[in-house]
Amino acid sequence: MRIYPFFIDHAGCPHRCSYCRQEASVGHPATLTAADVARQLPEMLEHGRGGEVAFYGGTFTLLPTADQRAYLEAVSPYLGSGEVGGIRISTRPDALAVEQIELLKGCGVSTVEVGCQSFSREVLTRSFRGHGPEAALQSVFRLQQHGIRVGIQLMPGLPGGSRKEALASLSQALSLKPDFLRIYPVVVLRDTLLARQYAAGQFSPLALDEAVDLCAEMVWHCQRFSVPVIRVGLQATDGLNQGDAVLAGPYHPAFGQLVRSRLWLRALQNLASTGHRSVLVHRADLADALGNKRHNIVYLQQKYPYFTVRAVPESARQTLTSDLDTGTLHELSAYPIEEFIF
Ligand code: SF4
Repeated sequence: MRIYPFFIDHAGCPHRCSYCRQEASVGHPATLTAADVARQLPEMLEHGRGGEVAFYGGTFTLLPTADQRAYLEAVSPYLGSGEVGGIRISTRPDALAVEQIELLKGCGVSTVEVGCQSFSREVLTRSFRGHGPEAALQSVFRLQQHGIRVGIQLMPGLPGGSRKEALASLSQALSLKPDFLRIYPVVVLRDTLLARQYAAGQFSPLALDEAVDLCAEMVWHCQRFSVPVIRVGLQATDGLNQGDAVLAGPYHPAFGQLVRSRLWLRALQNLASTGHRSVLVHRADLADALGNKRHNIVYLQQKYPYFTVRAVPESARQTLTSDLDTGTLHELSAYPIEEFIF
């Protein structure tokens, strides 16, 4: 879906989660006004297309009501004309009371991204989120009752978290039947409480490889339940790429590709280790199959020197055809499901 994004910085949020340094994440220090939206939106629109105007950053539903209305009303002429199909906002689970949702619904909001981050009480407490898991459950339920599409954001690797916790949180999230997920493994940003905890040796982020492994497993489970993951890993922005904004943790500008490639590595290794020597894939999948900087194929050929991966036009997407068999990426990269209690 086409998204027309606006960033409202840290506006609206009276909290300070231990990992949050909002201005570094979005790289837009200026304060957006409703007049800015009204002025910029016509230039952004691609006529004839739907899509959603999205207000990201901050905590939209904790802005003063008049400001929320002003932002949303700046978009409403384009909703009326059909040039924009809906409005998307992001917010905290404990800022979605019935009256807040009714305001959103009445002003044309079609999608809400809920920053749940984890469903573990311990993780939420240790990250100073200021709410418990029940807030996430209730807010998602309320949004769905009002006919609003729901996206859930999860953050594996928070203090007190683990692979088991991340999978349990994912399981809880999927049980709510969201329309999509975002998965952001935690990184340590400068000038945050987490940075101080990291410097004091009180917190260790996931290593890059560990985070890629975990996120690949999470994405695989989302595919199993047909829930799209619209982003894995923080978006590379000027704010994040400059200097020492990221002190530690699994930040990589191509994190999403690393995760996709990890699934391909599992599938290819599955075939290589059972005697398959040549695998054909769709040409649009070849880069992911070979891996970032050809990591997958170099790794596999060290263990299986005659193993090759090639693209052929007739291959289906997300499918591996070998000299012996054909299977989908999802089938061949399978993870255990026993510990994934729904
Ligand atoms: S709720 Fe969001 S914007 Fe507010 S402090 Fe936490 S992460 Fe930052």
